Amino acid sequence: MQERKLKENLKKENILNFTKEEFESRFDKKFRVKQIFEWIYQKYADDFSQMSSLPKELRQDLSRHYHFSPLECVKFEQSKDKSIKYLFRLNDGLLIESVLLPMKEEQSDENGKITKHARYTICVSSQVGCKSGCSFCLTAKGGLKRNLEAGEIVGQILWIKKHNQIPYERRVNIVYMGMGEPLDNLKNVSKAVKILSENDTLAISPKRQTISTSGLAKQIAELGQMKLGVLLAISLHAVNDELRSELMPINKAYNIKAIMDAVRAFPIDQRKRVMFEYLLIDGLNDGLDHAKELVKLLNGIKAKVNLILFNPHEGSIYKRPSLENAVKFQDFLSAKGLTCTIRESKGLDISAACGQLKERSLVKMS
Ligand code: SAH
Ligand code: SF4
Repeated sequence: MQERKLKENLKKENILNFTKEEFESRFDKKFRVKQIFEWIYQKYADDFSQMSSLPKELRQDLSRHYHFSPLECVKFEQSKDKSIKYLFRLNDGLLIESVLLPMKEEQSDENGKITKHARYTICVSSQVGCKSGCSFCLTAKGGLKRNLEAGEIVGQILWIKKHNQIPYERRVNIVYMGMGEPLDNLKNVSKAVKILSENDTLAISPKRQTISTSGLAKQIAELGQMKLGVLLAISLHAVNDELRSELMPINKAYNIKAIMDAVRAFPIDQRKRVMFEYLLIDGLNDGLDHAKELVKLLNGIKAKVNLILFNPHEGSIYKRPSLENAVKFQDFLSAKGLTCTIRESKGLDISAACGQLKERSLVKMS
């Protein structure tokens, strides 16, 4: 049954791929689109048949030509720290993953009345696989299979909100830090940003969406020109070109200087900062001499540094540094006035670094 539904979906168009304006151009009565979008994104309908405010004929017509289920969940794992990692199967059978990260717990007063709602971040994939080939990353292993469509990116967020019963108006942050290189799929990722931010969909402001890149300088410039208002995260990981090219082959095309120039030119809200992710690998880039270079490199940039402890996986040649070392690195940067956090190893017990859940499930299935 499920199988048949997936095959049928392949012949239909995915509504989640459309901006409101695009979908409106297909209707005489534009208000119908607002109604349909509300059913999908705000009332979390499963099917067109539930859209009771639409005429029966229109519902039938819609279900003949469209669907809004670009993925199905095949597996999920909850970590001790409550983050949940999802493995999704796309309509053509390929697998991707996303993570729901609860950032703050719900708070209530002595009468049980909620005083502060829980806060969530959703980490989404932008491609099936990735062609950047970073030596520490599991996603890199199988190369790039294909780009995700905008609607497949939107679908990850919609599915996770719906199945965790997170009301549509509850604010969530989106990070494009799952599988894939978002700027290698700029067209569809920028479209997803727009669709997600529309009032009749999930109304997630671009200011709450962070695009993480391995440093495609040319596309950083293109993204900047689009003036979407998204936040930027750079996966830096090394302070000299020699080491960076060893870890991230993409550095041969866009070296550190090219990236920093692109970052300086990127339009960013006065109150916000560019995030620099720095993966700490034991004995390779975690010494204080590297920290010193990092301070120099970020001089004059409104930056925030996010230190990530390397998450080991089978077959990896690198080692995770001790927390003690990471704290030393952090203290050095903080003492020099840089805002710096160590990313909590959320979901480490469920292999949270990108690509790892998919890898394990493939091993199990074969
Ligand atoms: N391609 C983009 C976004 C996806 S990767 C990018 O590289 O920025 C998201 C983050 O996960 C990147 O900062 C990446 O360096 C990090 N990552 C990849 N493999 C990891 C591992 N084994 N342990 C910890 N972080 C990892
Ligand atoms: Fe691709 Fe990012 Fe993994 Fe590098 S770290 S291979 S860019 S997903």
